[in-house]
Amino acid sequence: MTEQPAVPQSRPAATASSPWSTATTVADFRRNLAAVRARIDAAAVAAGRDPEQVRLLPVSKTVPEERLRAAAAAGITQMGENKVQEAKRKASNLADLGIHWALIGHLQTNKAKDVAAFAHEFQALDSLRVAEALDRRLQAAGRGLDVYVQVNSSGEASKFGLEPEAVAPFLAALPVYSALRVRGLMTLAAHTEDTARVRECFALMRALRDAGLQAGTVGDGQLSMGMSGDFELAVAEGSTCVRVGQAIFGARPAPAARA
Ligand SMILES: *Cc1c(COP(=O)(O)O)cnc(C)c1O
Repeated sequence: MTEQPAVPQSRPAATASSPWSTATTVADFRRNLAAVRARIDAAAVAAGRDPEQVRLLPVSKTVPEERLRAAAAAGITQMGENKVQEAKRKASNLADLGIHWALIGHLQTNKAKDVAAFAHEFQALDSLRVAEALDRRLQAAGRGLDVYVQVNSSGEASKFGLEPEAVAPFLAALPVYSALRVRGLMTLAAHTEDTARVRECFALMRALRDAGLQAGTVGDGQLSMGMSGDFELAVAEGSTCVRVGQAIFGARPAPAARA
C-alpha cells in the first residue's frame, strides 16, 4: 500500500529534487489520487485510526483550469487555493463543475468580500480584523462559512498564523462572529527534513485542539495539517484534513509559489 505510483520515465516534471510527476490526463489524476489515498489510509491504520476520519483536500494552486477539469473528471470534488484572485477566477470559470472551494492562504481584510462571495471554507483565519470583515460580508450575503484558525506551530518567521499561546483567547473571541462556523485548527509544519521536528509541530496542534475541545471553542475539533512532503506524519499525529498539492497535480515550477 505504501509503494509509489508507477511513473513513466518520459514525464517531464519528475526530477531528483521533485519526485512528483505532472498530472494532465484523467488517468494521471486517477493514479495519483489513488496512490495518495492509499498512503493516507496506510498511515491512519498504522496509527490505529479510521482512514475515513482523514479528508484529502487536493491543493490546485498554480494549476491551470484545463487540468483542473481533468482532475474533476477523475473524481476530485474539492480544491484548495491560497490566493484570492486566482481562486475567484477558477471558481467562476469552473462553476459548472460544482467544486467545493477551500481558501487555504492568508487573507487581507480588503479581500473579505470576495471570499464571502465564492468560498465554501476558509482555513487561514488568524486575525479578529479578518474575522470581523468576513462576518460582516457573510451576514450581508446571508451566508455562513466554515473556518479553521491558522496556527504558527513551527515558530518560523516566514509563516502566517497565531502563536500557540494566542490560540485559546482567539478561539474564545470568535463566537460573536456568528456567520463563521469554527471547525478547527490549521497549520504548516516546520520546513525541514527533520521528521522529529515536524512531528513536534503536529503534536502541538493536537494539544491545542484538545484544549479547545475541552473549552468548547474549537467546533468539532478538526485538524488541517499535512502536505505532500509530510502528510503521513500529520496523519500519525491526528490530522483530519491533509492538504495535498504536488503529490496529486505534480511539482510546482518555482519556490515563489510556496505558502
Ligand atoms: C501549497 C499549499 C499546500 C500544499 O502543498 P504541497 O506541497 O503542494 O502538497 C498545503 N497547504 C497550504 C496552505 C499551501 O499553501
